[in-house]
Amino acid sequence: MTEELYLPAGEYQRTFDAEVVAADEAGPSVVLDRTLFYKEGGGQPPDHGTLSWDDGEARVVDVRKDHGEIRHELDGDVPEAGTTVRGDLDWERRHAHMRYHTAQHVVSKVVLDEYGASTAGNQVYPDHARIDFEPADFDEADLRAIEEHANDLIVRDLPVRKENRSRSALEDETPEGRTNLDLIPESVDPLRAVSIGDIDVCPCGGTHVDSLAELGELEVTDRTSKGANVDRIEFVLHDPATAD
Ligand SMILES: [Zn+2]
Repeated sequence: MTEELYLPAGEYQRTFDAEVVAADEAGPSVVLDRTLFYKEGGGQPPDHGTLSWDDGEARVVDVRKDHGEIRHELDGDVPEAGTTVRGDLDWERRHAHMRYHTAQHVVSKVVLDEYGASTAGNQVYPDHARIDFEPADFDEADLRAIEEHANDLIVRDLPVRKENRSRSALEDETPEGRTNLDLIPESVDPLRAVSIGDIDVCPCGGTHVDSLAELGELEVTDRTSKGANVDRIEFVLHDPATAD
């Protein structure tokens, strides 16, 4: 089992050393004993970056869970099993995913509180994100209200805490309708919990920022109906450094 170094709260580490456990020349891909690379899942794309070692280097172009192993798909040389490699994350991409994933939690909680709609699906990208809500039928005024509530929380600069919590504690604390804990196998205990100030907590294995100040201003850019009771909301974040 590959040790996931970013869990429960190692998101700001950008480089690491690891040993190649298995190498596939044909893939080409490698499995490492530990990694900082996020594997695709939970609506968050994989990290990209590089692996380098004594006499070689390769780009990491995809990271996926495959038969219980975390497989790093490579473009370049393939290090042999036993090789010590250094991993470097493409930080701009990773940090963008962290911002958008935390923003997704904020919007999911706002919509649950204000409209009683649960998050039926979500996908983050480096430059936007979308969430499907159910049951939902938003109009333009609703979108502006969601945006306003989300930004009210963001400007409060609430801390984001990431830690392992017992399943029973999380079952007690996760707001009704916030997430379906039944979808996570019973054997997973403790669970990695992500909480925003004292307003939200939910189990999540994604990568998140430490503080809402890193998100910048949120703008809801689109709404589409995805069925009788499902509405999809898209949003973007404005860079906190350049927002005015
Ligand atoms: Zn999440």
